[in-house]
Amino acid sequence: MKKILSVIGILFSALLIFIGIRTITNKPAANNIQVNLSPLPQNAVAHMSAAIQYKTETPNDEYQFDTATFMNYRKFIETTYPLIHKNLTRTIIDSFNYIYEWKGTDPSILPMVLMAHYDVVPVEASAVKLWHAQPYGGEVKENYIWGRGVLDDKASMISILEATEAQLQKGFTPKQSILLCFGADEESSGKGATAMVEYFKKLNRKFDLVVDEGGEISTEQNKSVKKPIASIGVGEKGYVTLVLTAQKEGGHSSIPGQQTAIDILSTAIAKVNQNPMPTKLTPPIEAYLKSISPYNENFFEKVALSNMWLFKSFVVNNMTKDPSSNALVRTTLVPTVFNSGVRDNVIPTFATAYINSRILPGQSSKEVYDYVQKTINDTNIKITYYKNYMTEPSPTTDVNSKYYKRVEKAVRSVVKDVVVAPMLMVGATDSRNYRAVSEGVVNFTPLTDAKGYHGIDERMLISDFQKCFNFYTLLIKGE
Ligand SMILES: [Zn+2]
Repeated sequence: MKKILSVIGILFSALLIFIGIRTITNKPAANNIQVNLSPLPQNAVAHMSAAIQYKTETPNDEYQFDTATFMNYRKFIETTYPLIHKNLTRTIIDSFNYIYEWKGTDPSILPMVLMAHYDVVPVEASAVKLWHAQPYGGEVKENYIWGRGVLDDKASMISILEATEAQLQKGFTPKQSILLCFGADEESSGKGATAMVEYFKKLNRKFDLVVDEGGEISTEQNKSVKKPIASIGVGEKGYVTLVLTAQKEGGHSSIPGQQTAIDILSTAIAKVNQNPMPTKLTPPIEAYLKSISPYNENFFEKVALSNMWLFKSFVVNNMTKDPSSNALVRTTLVPTVFNSGVRDNVIPTFATAYINSRILPGQSSKEVYDYVQKTINDTNIKITYYKNYMTEPSPTTDVNSKYYKRVEKAVRSVVKDVVVAPMLMVGATDSRNYRAVSEGVVNFTPLTDAKGYHGIDERMLISDFQKCFNFYTLLIKGE
């Protein structure tokens, strides 16, 4: 007996030592990339400020599209960036989406695509008084440029144009062809990006790296990591909404039956809430955890992250406790609409609810449907797909690929002491379409202090503008 106990003791000690060694040796890889930022071109801030003053709002109703403003914005781009319009070819797709092509010297390399959109979400009239600047004033104050669209996504578009124009001024010609693709309706239908990709498909074109908005730099992403984390988007979750309808004969509320349509539907919704879809650690999130683990300052978390072979389920379970990390390890389900009843004294015949789901890569809308149906397990509930909008999860870009590494290097070259990690996008961007023509789609803009997306006081640090300019310059130069 004693012998068995001592053997167990030795094995246990060996295990602890092994776990300890893996934790201690989990150190960040050496980083010898120097950050050396070029200043912004002389009029870049004025150009950004001017760009914001074009109210390129994407209307809810397509027929209210302000053609004149979009046309004026085009003229502004043409006059502000003359070398681009002299040296690159421009193709206009569906009126206001632009493809600029800069021919490289080596046609054997697939072209790189730098993407952005210049439409912006409307400013709520009632919220204007809460702004600390005119939403379309393009004010420059307190080290920020203020206004709707400065982050989303004129930051990318103007930075790409500034970087390109500056290189043309220096007489630079890229080895790799570069396409600049600018969409005019990302915030509404995204039809522009779809049309551009359809155009490329017809020409049988394929691309190397594709960079679009999405990921950025934050110090608030992980409580246990004190350094800024640059999240490079490598894939997007899918999107589906299910419509649940319960039908039960209604009537006078003075003589109710045992169960109404509302009761049936409420029970179904409660079942979905109590039975979330199982967790799953997808490759991008596993790579994300690995990337941040050497920087984790919480001892127990670091032990667990350094020994995923043993603590994987503990780590994943821990992630489900916070809504934002929970969304990274499971296909989420949430009721967003619930409708029933017309009067206080009438039992309704129908009750309808919408369940919105964001689907993890590797799963599908069909799996979501089947799961919800099985969970509810009630033939009184009819389930259909909400047809207006639906998209399957995107394929994901490999974090060991040259595409990811190239962007990682550019990020390290513009931000000091930054942790670079892959990330899954929980919202959809225009770049989703490009996965059909490239296996190197990533989402990233080097914004460190992005405030006011789609809300009030949207503003960008001028120093972030400088980072964006340098980031695109490096990509253009192929460095
Ligand atoms: Zn955007």
